[in-house]
Amino acid sequence: MTQILSETYLDYSDILIRPKMGTNLNSRKEVILERTFKFKHGQIRNGLGVFNANMATVGNFVIAKKLLARGMFATIHKHYTMDEIGQFMLDARGENVPLDNLFITIGLKNIDDEIKKLKDLESKYQWTSPRNICIDAPNFYIPKALDILARVRHEFPDAVIMAGNIASGDVCLKLLDYADIIKCGIGSGSACLTRKQTGCGTPMVSLIVECADIAHSVGGHICADGGIVDVGDICKALCLNSDMVMIGGMFAGTDEAAGEVIEKHYETNEIVDGKHVILTKYFKQYYGMSSEYANNKFAGGMGNYKTSEGRELLIPYTGSLDKILQDISGGIASCCTYIGATTIKHLSKCATIIRVNNQLNKVFEKYSV
Ligand code: 5GP
Repeated sequence: MTQILSETYLDYSDILIRPKMGTNLNSRKEVILERTFKFKHGQIRNGLGVFNANMATVGNFVIAKKLLARGMFATIHKHYTMDEIGQFMLDARGENVPLDNLFITIGLKNIDDEIKKLKDLESKYQWTSPRNICIDAPNFYIPKALDILARVRHEFPDAVIMAGNIASGDVCLKLLDYADIIKCGIGSGSACLTRKQTGCGTPMVSLIVECADIAHSVGGHICADGGIVDVGDICKALCLNSDMVMIGGMFAGTDEAAGEVIEKHYETNEIVDGKHVILTKYFKQYYGMSSEYANNKFAGGMGNYKTSEGRELLIPYTGSLDKILQDISGGIASCCTYIGATTIKHLSKCATIIRVNNQLNKVFEKYSV
C-alpha cells in the first residue's frame, strides 16, 4: 500500500521567525557573521555559510571571487577546464582572494575524467589542502552516486566534500560516511521543473529540519539548496539549523552572472505627442542545468529518453552583485538582533518559528520602482 504522510510539509513562505526580547545586542554591527565549521572528516573552515549555485550562469569565476572576498563560500561549475580553473586560482592568489572556501564541482558522468581533472589541478596548479569538492547530481539517490562519492573520498581524503542533491533525511547518514556536507533540496529551484515533470520534491523548511537533525547527530553539515527568494529565506534556513544555503536565481540577474544584459522594448497604452510611450526593460538569461537549453549547450542534446527538468528564463536585471551580498550580510545580522543571537550558530537556539497564512504585505508590489 502506498504510504501517505499526512503532516503538511512547509516551505519558506509558510513560516516567519518571531522577534523576541532578551537580546543583549544593541546593534547589528555587534553580530559575528563568521562561523567556524568543524567538518566530519576532520577539516576546519571559517566563513558565512552562503554559496552561489554550481550552475553555468552563477557558478562562474567572477561571482565566486566576490563571495570569497566577502568571507562567504563559493562553487565553480563543472564545465570549466582544468587550466581555466588553475588560471583562476593563480589570479585569485595574486589578488589576495582567499581560496579556502572555494568548492570545485564535478559531476557523476565520466568520473575517471573528473578525477583526472582534479589530480592535474593538484600537480599543475598546487591545488592542495585546504581544498573542497562539490559532487553534483540532480538526483543523488541513484546507486552509482554513493560509489562515486566513496571513490572521491578515497582519492582526496583531506578534502571537504559536499554531495547532493537529496530530499529526505533517510539517506543523510549513508552519504555522511564519505561526505562532510549534504546538499538538500529537490524541486525547489527557481529554474526547476522537476516537481511539474515528475511530481517529486520536498518543501524546504520541513526538509531542512529533518536533514539537519540527522546530519548533526553524526557531526555532518547540510546546505539548503534552492528556493531562496528573499534574504529572509536565508535567515529562515539558518534559524532552522541549516549550516549553509545555496543561491541561484537571486544572483542570476546581476552584472556578474554569465551572459549579456538583454534590452526589450514594450509599447504602452500611454500616448504622448500622438505616439505610444515605449517602456524599456532589462533582463538576463537564467536556465536550469537540466533544461533543454543546458542539455543542448553542454550534453549534445536531450537524448530520446529524458524530459527537460529545467526552465530557460529571462529574469529582471538587478545590477551589481555587491548590493545583494551586502543585503545578505545586513539581513542576517539584523535577523540576529531581532531574536538575540550574537552569532550565526546561536540563531537556531534563539529562533521561535511561527507558521503563518500570510507572510508578506504585497499591496503595493506592482508599484515597485
Ligand atoms: P534557486 O536559488 O534558483 O531557487 O535554486 C538554485 C538551485 O536549483 C541549484 O543550486 C540546483 O540545485 C537547482 N537547479 C538548477 N538547475 C536545475 C534544473 O534544471 N532542474 C532542477 N530540478 N533543479 C535545478
